[in-house]
Amino acid sequence: MTGTPFTATTLGSARIGPKRQLKRAIESYWAGRTDQTQLHALATDLRRDGLQKLHTAGLDSVPVNTFSFYDQMLDTAVLLGALPPRVAGIADDLDRYFAAARGTGRIAPLEMTKWFDTNYHYLVPEISASTEFSLNPGKVLGELDEALSLGIPARPVIIGPITFLLLSKAVDDGGAPIGRLDEVIPLYRELLSTLRSAGAEWVQIDEPALVTDLHDDPAGLASRVYGELGSATDRPAILVASYFGDLRDALPALAATDVEGIALDLVRGTADAVATVPTLTSKLLVAGVVNGRNIWRNDLSASLATLATLLGSAASVAVSTSCSTLHVPYSLDPETELDDTLRSWLAFGEEKVAEVVTLATALRDGRESVSTTLDDCSQALAARRSDPRVHDDRVREQVAEALRAGIARGPSADRRTAQNERLNLPEVPTTTIGSYPQTSAIRLARAALRKNEIGVAEYEQRMRDEVASVIALQEDLGLDVLVHGEPERNDMVQYFAEQLDGFFATENGWVQSYGTRCVRPPILYGDVRRPHAMTVAWIDYAQSLTDRPVKGMLTGPVTILAWSFVRDDQPLADSANQIAVAIRAETVDLEAAGIGIIQVDEPALRELLPLRSEDQAAYLTWAVDAFRLSTSGVRDSTQIHTHLCYSEFGTVIGAISDLDADVTSIEAARSHMEVLDDLNAIGYANGVGPGVYDIHSPRVPEVGEIVASLKAALDAVPAQRLWINPDCGLKTRSTDEVEASLRNLVTAAHMVRSEL
Ligand code: GLN
Ligand code: ZN
Repeated sequence: MTGTPFTATTLGSARIGPKRQLKRAIESYWAGRTDQTQLHALATDLRRDGLQKLHTAGLDSVPVNTFSFYDQMLDTAVLLGALPPRVAGIADDLDRYFAAARGTGRIAPLEMTKWFDTNYHYLVPEISASTEFSLNPGKVLGELDEALSLGIPARPVIIGPITFLLLSKAVDDGGAPIGRLDEVIPLYRELLSTLRSAGAEWVQIDEPALVTDLHDDPAGLASRVYGELGSATDRPAILVASYFGDLRDALPALAATDVEGIALDLVRGTADAVATVPTLTSKLLVAGVVNGRNIWRNDLSASLATLATLLGSAASVAVSTSCSTLHVPYSLDPETELDDTLRSWLAFGEEKVAEVVTLATALRDGRESVSTTLDDCSQALAARRSDPRVHDDRVREQVAEALRAGIARGPSADRRTAQNERLNLPEVPTTTIGSYPQTSAIRLARAALRKNEIGVAEYEQRMRDEVASVIALQEDLGLDVLVHGEPERNDMVQYFAEQLDGFFATENGWVQSYGTRCVRPPILYGDVRRPHAMTVAWIDYAQSLTDRPVKGMLTGPVTILAWSFVRDDQPLADSANQIAVAIRAETVDLEAAGIGIIQVDEPALRELLPLRSEDQAAYLTWAVDAFRLSTSGVRDSTQIHTHLCYSEFGTVIGAISDLDADVTSIEAARSHMEVLDDLNAIGYANGVGPGVYDIHSPRVPEVGEIVASLKAALDAVPAQRLWINPDCGLKTRSTDEVEASLRNLVTAAHMVRSEL
């Protein structure tokens, strides 16, 4: 274990390519337009460029094996020989890998779920009693060798056994995967020895699961696993990397083992515990002071102060990002529309690496050696603090006023009476969740607008034509509550962010969401104002085409926050309330325009749930309050809908009543209406529209199936409270599928209605 301590690093970096080259290369391989040789050549170039950038920027330890053709958890499943048996028959390594990731015509893919509380999604490995783990170190060895041959001080990164097993799922009565530690630890030992022979001085083992409640004794797991791995003699120096929170008890547990280094997230967590753990004085502490998952420029002086508190408590201190920069865009360079002031407040991946290097230089050579950079930084931060776009007293006054007006609506029974009178809907009314297919006409119009081939007026005319055809389709189908179909929205969050003051939409700020899918989250930088109505003209136009009620369609404050980069200079709850006030103003305008039903979508309600259960209640309180602030400005006779869609509601279920929407449409088809029992258990007593068919599949549901689902729903919910709708928005489906499915849905509704 020679591991000379290093001083500046990052825990990982983005891999899709600064211009999303990897996305395009993989998709063209999937489409059969290119072969593996071409794909590998591009991947090698991207990796080499990335490594060299990190090295020339001044990192003296560079993470490798952070590249992936799809996902790092899937890579770890391959490393440990834990791919599901259903892909075993595919001879080619890469095709087998992609089959596990995306499925094939006959093979189901692995499930996908969120990577902790980020917007990255990983593939969930399946572990069964018959899983026979075996080591396949080809990928990590290849990437190590590639880097070493370029003269780069490479540090292989692998996901640790605790995190791998805790995030995997048991299949075929396999029992909790964490019970398989004894089988995988020897493979990690073997891997360590192999990496040592291949020239690795350090290895980084990621254990973010140690900062969560996924297991009741993370400290015990940490001492057991790292006690064993640390005791091996034939190995590189081990850096155990934690991120996304505090290690708590697991910190002294790790410090008591023979591992040489520990990485701490000092953005989400604190440095407070460090001084209380005497055994840390023999370790390298990798201090994650630069936020790896948000886009704000670092407060370098504050980071230096934090670093100073660590110096006496560890053998040495290296500066790092708090987690992999996978979660932020590559660089500010392509953002040509960004004004200089705003730019000076931000740091994307490359700028973060420069910050790490500056901080490490200051530690080594004294702060004077970087005084110009420190001065620039404090000037930019001072400008940010005093910028009128960041603090707008009018906004704060509006929020205070709305809160004074109260976030409670009238009693729900009174609302129901007023709404029934106004809307006069049949029993078990039918509706949809909002979007209709994103047709090629819509996509072409959007592209033409972007390229200035058509003007805004022409674009809007084409979108109105889409609205008209969606309204005509719904009338023909005989749905009861119509929607305008959302053709004008590129994305349900970005659409609003583009119209609200306080948000900035990047040109090239792509981050990987999963596989080859990337998203471009807006940046929330200042106080939120709604300069003008955002949706009223569209909904009003749609309503002018029909006598049936058209539902207004808005995105809720929590979902807008969850899918944006958020401010770090005020509590999330304050940002949520500002957005809520903007949405509230929109509901009031819709109501004034004569719209009787308004849906405020909160599909991301669960996504911001804190990782530690003790923090969850406080989150749910402000999240629910922000929703109520958004929806309580309208009269009792205006019906508020919400839509939630993730199959596992968990702790969030209790909050659904508290939202106090008049109608909640909710994903239920895949769980066979079980969610209705859960809602009954928490005393939910308002309207509910359990999704009666799964829109994620191209399959058209038969009338009989929908009738069966509805009957199951009627066992749990009285007809007076039941609505009928698909699981989620229809934008990913084709018009043919939608038409056929909804026709069956309406037929089923009529059959059930006639038997009531
Ligand atoms: N109204 C949105 C739509 O129909 C809701 C999307 C969602 O739930 N993610 O597309
Ligand atoms: Zn949905």
